Amino acid sequence: MTIAADSSTDLDRTRFFIDGAWVAPKGTETHLALEAATEAPLGTASLGTDADIDAAVRAARRALDDGPWGRTTPAERAAAMRRFAEALAARGADTATLVSRENGMPIGLSNAFNGEAPAGLLNMYADQIETMPLEETRPSPSGSTVVRRAPVGVVGAITPWNYPQALAMMKIAPALAAGCTVVLKPSPETALDGYILGDAAVEAGLPPGVLNIVVAGRESGAALVSHPLVDKIAFTGSTAAGRIIGAECGRLIRRCTLELGGKSAAIVLDDVDLDTFVAGLDNACFQNNGQTCTVQSRILAPRSRYAEVVEAVAQFAREMVVGDPLDPAVTCGPMASKAQLDRVLGYLDLGRASDARLVTGGGRPANLSRGWFVEPTVFADVDNRERIAQEEIFGPVVTITPYDDDDEAVRIANDSEYGLGGSVWTTDEHRGLALARRVRTGTIGVNYYLQDLGAPFGGMKGSGIGRELGPEALGNYLEFQSIYASADHLDH
Ligand code: NAD
Repeated sequence: MTIAADSSTDLDRTRFFIDGAWVAPKGTETHLALEAATEAPLGTASLGTDADIDAAVRAARRALDDGPWGRTTPAERAAAMRRFAEALAARGADTATLVSRENGMPIGLSNAFNGEAPAGLLNMYADQIETMPLEETRPSPSGSTVVRRAPVGVVGAITPWNYPQALAMMKIAPALAAGCTVVLKPSPETALDGYILGDAAVEAGLPPGVLNIVVAGRESGAALVSHPLVDKIAFTGSTAAGRIIGAECGRLIRRCTLELGGKSAAIVLDDVDLDTFVAGLDNACFQNNGQTCTVQSRILAPRSRYAEVVEAVAQFAREMVVGDPLDPAVTCGPMASKAQLDRVLGYLDLGRASDARLVTGGGRPANLSRGWFVEPTVFADVDNRERIAQEEIFGPVVTITPYDDDDEAVRIANDSEYGLGGSVWTTDEHRGLALARRVRTGTIGVNYYLQDLGAPFGGMKGSGIGRELGPEALGNYLEFQSIYASADHLDH
């Protein structure tokens, strides 16, 4: 990367992807992305206005109503999606590196979620739409009824910065498979990688208007939510924003799926094999420097083995390698932004001011003078009512709370406004499964936690409404239509 005197870099993205072309912004506002590990300028992105969002929505509407996409067969859409997947896969390593530089994600994880998952999701939904029956004819009093599943229409997809490519594709892939068109509004923090989807769409020959990308802030995100030509909003982000977006969609009777925040629990049972637990700690409790909606940042430990569990978690945290996320040996990169760093440091202050015991970490690493790094931190003896146990911190910070028996562990796990992830750690798989069924959460692992892209994913309670991933997610983008035919159209 070269940084010129005016701070422009070869990563700048000053045009939006609308109607299959790179279009100049209608406004003048820009976002300067800084590299999370160095705070050096990475690139500048234009920020969209309501007028840019309007142009993108109109392009998506035309592609659906007048363009070829609305008339494609599932096989034609699947073929286009496979070409799109190939173009993304060819860029996968570069995409993963860019995202790690933007948001601090350790490169191995970024390769999986930003480099490989998007192409995998496109291929998965291409396979599914080719085999899914979209029309069925049933006998009826009038002769027959055709029950069809039609595309829901124009989709507004709004994504956060923590897994930008995978979260965007969890919406785009099933939407395209169903025959919808999409306007994607990525988060400014990960603006630069967002447009790689546009580069790949052009290479794949996706028809103009089928996918449109406008990076914008909250206000123009709100313009997308309430645009009259949008049929459905697919949102991933904070519960606070989800409440506003859900309320607006309710007012407009607009379909929406909301994938929101979490404050999940890892329940360590008294028969746990600590080596298994420690081996799974990274994915379950610290994934992506803790900047993961499903992290189990509340560890519940049985009093009978409490000291052992606290020591095992503390040792794991002390041994995490904090540093440049592009170094494959690093297990904890920086926070994605200065604002995110300040938020996490604020919670560390709250923890220190509470009755909790700081076991390790608690501040910024002394050896890293630049970059938004935080020490992996463990607070023990935490009352579950404390703010550090109730609010989403979104950093490498875990709390440990003791409990007496399985019933109390379930009660504490469920004592949260959220219900997104979770895990149970035990040498008795049946006991673990039985306990997992009692936790009110959208996903939960037994002796393991990692998202399964083939299974429905989403939240209970304040963690959201609806599910992404798995074949089930296609239903988010299809609408039933029943056609009462006057004659018998049944095939005999
Ligand atoms: P955020 O809610 O601040 O922003 C998310 C996206 O929504 C951004 O693109 C933002 O510009 C946009 N936005 C914010 N307010 C809006 C509004 N009123 N109208 C329209 N758009 C609006 O969240 P963030 O800080 O970017 O991301 C972190 C949050 O995302 C965490 O709470 C995390 O748990 C959650 N998350 C959830 C999941 C999940 O699948 N459940 C996955 C990843 C992240």
